[in-house]
Amino acid sequence: MQKLMDAIVKPAAAPGLELRRVPEPEVGPGEVLIKIHKTAICGTDVHIYDWNPWSAQHIKPPMVIGHEYVGEIAELGAGVTGFKIGQRVSGEGHITCGHCRNCHNGNIQWCKDTKSVGVDRDGAFAEYVCIPASNVIAIDPEMDEDIVAMFDAVGNATHTALMFDLVGEDVLITGAGPIGIIAVAIAKYAGARRVIITDISDDRLQLAKKLGADAAVNTTKEDLWDVMRAQGIKEGIDVGLEMSGSPAALNQMIGVMRNGGKISLLGLGNSDATLDLNNVICKGLTLQGIYGRKLDNWHQMTYMVQGGLNLAPAITHRFNYKDFEKGFEAMHSGKSGKVILDWTK
Ligand SMILES: [Zn+2]
Ligand SMILES: [Zn+2]
Repeated sequence: MQKLMDAIVKPAAAPGLELRRVPEPEVGPGEVLIKIHKTAICGTDVHIYDWNPWSAQHIKPPMVIGHEYVGEIAELGAGVTGFKIGQRVSGEGHITCGHCRNCHNGNIQWCKDTKSVGVDRDGAFAEYVCIPASNVIAIDPEMDEDIVAMFDAVGNATHTALMFDLVGEDVLITGAGPIGIIAVAIAKYAGARRVIITDISDDRLQLAKKLGADAAVNTTKEDLWDVMRAQGIKEGIDVGLEMSGSPAALNQMIGVMRNGGKISLLGLGNSDATLDLNNVICKGLTLQGIYGRKLDNWHQMTYMVQGGLNLAPAITHRFNYKDFEKGFEAMHSGKSGKVILDWTK
């Protein structure tokens, strides 16, 4: 008889999630079964909870959601080598084709045929998740599991922040959500001179200060250029990290960039944005789209955390998985940082 497990499931094409007993995943050749210890709630999970238009297009209920996790290896499928039972692991959530040009040149984040854990296939908000061995990431058992649980999101922040050299640069981050505030800490760790973050929520800006922002600006109340001048910034921002998905924030960023500045774009939602391309051209700006993570980002964030990067203030809530509704409530409040769910008891 098939064994059952607890899982947080999208039961139907409507708002809400449900804790259910579902069959444990069966481990195929080349796959690894991971017993989940901790998970983190992502903005994507909130979209799936809410059943927004993006979810309605991408999610096929019923399915187990979730893609940010840490756990230990419970079972190895046929032919898997290099891992052992009980080993601490996380997993890269984008399962790529392995054959396309970008897979071959190491840019797996641009695979033409990627499948996402917890979106296109069953996810990690469960007692067990099954993924291909090539997506398993070995984790140093000394590392804090709450921090590793959110490494998927830290990887997005790492990818965005480290796209351009930050040593001695003045950085503007638009959007103080969980990834934005994590990017603050990474930018400071990577050697930025000043890191300024903008948002329209004072709660989120307070949190950004805890992660080391030199200035946290509520753009509905303060003039950004006044703040930049007070920080000793004369010619404009060197590197911009757009994390809000707000066209207004992106346009404000373009307006305060210095000539020759570089912008990494992570925030989705700008599909209707109107950009002053003349400004981009005349200023000689570089705009770089960011999607997912590079596999090397897993190594970079591990070494940064081991080297002293402190991401702990980004975690604002911890719950047992059975109280997942409280976790989503915290995410919906717009005041939270990362929310961790514990699956160990
Ligand atoms: Zn995520
Ligand atoms: Zn590919």
